[in-house]
Amino acid sequence: MIEKPDIVDTIANEGIRLTPVSGEKYYKGLCPFHAEKTPSFVVYPQSQRFYCFGCGAKGDVIDFIMKLRSFNFKEALSYLNIRPAQTAKSSQLTKKKKLLQQFQKWRDDRIELLFLVLRGLKLLKKRVQSIEEAKNLADLYHTEPIWVHQLDILLHGDEREQFELYREVQYGKKI
Ligand SMILES: [Zn+2]
Repeated sequence: MIEKPDIVDTIANEGIRLTPVSGEKYYKGLCPFHAEKTPSFVVYPQSQRFYCFGCGAKGDVIDFIMKLRSFNFKEALSYLNIRPAQTAKSSQLTKKKKLLQQFQKWRDDRIELLFLVLRGLKLLKKRVQSIEEAKNLADLYHTEPIWVHQLDILLHGDEREQFELYREVQYGKKI
């Protein structure tokens, strides 16, 4: 793995004000990539990734600097003081680290997906016009609390709960 500087520190050093939410599980701030008055830019210290619920910008600290400063990958590495010697270590990833990375990526993707699904469901609810339509959507409605619960675990739960959810969703193992 490339040894990268901390994403929360780096983003704060670029002048973006971040506020810790839920005991520093994640940070929120105004997105530097689109104009907004309500913060929808979220930084996850555990996975060291950012995601904007407004414009969809996302990635790690290198992606952030590339996007913010219009740098290419090499320029971003040098700006962040990541030396090429360190990047060579990436080939020596242990199996455990890889697994952890897969899990963290899954978690970020799942959070995005759940937000989208729940937002979509809200819109659907507004548009239902007949009992027939409502019946067709019943299955979706019944699943909604499960999605809400999963999102809660992913945003506010501890890593053990999240990993168990990962195994359950990915491999069908019960919590
Ligand atoms: Zn944005």
